[in-house]
Amino acid sequence: MVYTGGTIGMLPRDPENPASPLVPRPFADSLAFNPGLEAAIRGLGSGIDFDVDRDVRSIDPPIDSAAVRPEHWVELARLIEREIEGYDGVVVIHGTDTMAYTASALAFLFENLAKPVVLTGSQMPLFRTPSDARNNLLNAIEVAAHSSPGVPIIPEVLIVFGDRILRGCQATKVSSSARNAFASLNGPDLGEIEPGRIRVFHGRLRHRPDPAREPFSVRYEMFAQENRRARVIGIELTPDLHLGDLAALLALPDLVGVILHTYGVGNAPPDPELYALLRRAADAGCLIVNVSQCLHGQVQMGRYASSSELSEYGVASGMDMTDETARIKIYWALATQVGDARRTQMQISQRGEQTEDLFDVAFGPVLDPADVHVAGARFDARFEPANLRQAVLRLGGARFVREAGTAAPAEPCVHVFLNDPRASRESDPSAARCIATWTGAWDAEAESWVEDVTDGLGLLGEGEVYLTLVCPPGVRIVCRGVFLALFARIVRQILVR
Ligand code: ASP
Repeated sequence: MVYTGGTIGMLPRDPENPASPLVPRPFADSLAFNPGLEAAIRGLGSGIDFDVDRDVRSIDPPIDSAAVRPEHWVELARLIEREIEGYDGVVVIHGTDTMAYTASALAFLFENLAKPVVLTGSQMPLFRTPSDARNNLLNAIEVAAHSSPGVPIIPEVLIVFGDRILRGCQATKVSSSARNAFASLNGPDLGEIEPGRIRVFHGRLRHRPDPAREPFSVRYEMFAQENRRARVIGIELTPDLHLGDLAALLALPDLVGVILHTYGVGNAPPDPELYALLRRAADAGCLIVNVSQCLHGQVQMGRYASSSELSEYGVASGMDMTDETARIKIYWALATQVGDARRTQMQISQRGEQTEDLFDVAFGPVLDPADVHVAGARFDARFEPANLRQAVLRLGGARFVREAGTAAPAEPCVHVFLNDPRASRESDPSAARCIATWTGAWDAEAESWVEDVTDGLGLLGEGEVYLTLVCPPGVRIVCRGVFLALFARIVRQILVR
């Protein structure tokens, strides 16, 4: 057990005045108010070997979690790395205010975690009665010790609080006073606590790494000393936002990451100046992540015209990640990935932090008016066609151009063929390989064309894809970019014991 402080272990600053402000105290001070607690811990489930004197470590001094800094995550990770070998599970006692950040930070710091690391705290201090502290503590220890004979089976960072067992990087603090202070708004709970009974939903857990092939390690580079000046900021889009303020924020020195808090499914005002500012920041290497202000649901850039271009401007989708996790994952992506992979990997689940993966495939622009244009692209090897849920094809800033010397049809159109690099004007547009056809008007403004092509993607292979744009005689096309967004289910990895 690692004690960091938080309400659970706080006492009134003035022992004579119970109404004086709560301050963090050593764990032993709270235990002194709970003579039966140690015995209760010992009496937990059969075979839990836990001794307060032997098995508790503390960060020094204990803190209110409002004071947590990245340095504390590094300290915690070091402590856990040093001790985890000798234990079946770890409990981290932590204040509720920043517990979701710490849970996400540990989830991303730890590579190939094979044992449970359970964070808990309480709304009321241990010394008070009634308090949720005692139950939360006992439940956290039980979950951390939850194992089939000799095998710890929860290879995750969890938050155990009230009657919930949550994946740490999907949890968020939802109440400053309720017993169930945390919820996982977009992912299912990993278990539940009923009076006298703890149920873990094994089928929802992540796959347990094989320590022989996938050894445990810690990504300390995420919060390395030399990177401490790097800044990740959140920018809230609001109807009264001044573009000048946005420009000033994006011009901050050492800015490496931005969480763009957008509307609904990831929408931003359709303002070319705003888009230009974002593009400039992204081009300069800033990792911008689109996270919705909505509590539930997933970002879907491209569903509305007002957001369809954001991804073209280098903005990564935050999918259905919490704010806390999106922020931590930016540090992870910057420390562990280079170039375009940073954005690619932001959109793919690394620790079970999102419900789906998004594989974005960009095919480049069509600058010279083309009658037939072939483009190929590669995508992340983790994409498996069988897991595809939705595929969206987008031609950004597209328009038709008349072809000189040929009679122009009344309505211009373009056909898109999948994995048929030899498709030509002679190819049959009703063939299965033709996954989309756009019909437009002459002399229309350039705009983004979006089409759901899920049904046509049975022919998609692994790793590489070709698109061929074919215009009929008399028609040519130009566009700013061709993009394929592949949304894939994350297939539950059933635990192999
Ligand atoms: N301020 C306290 C903390 O986060 C609140 C709590 O623990 O509930 O440390």
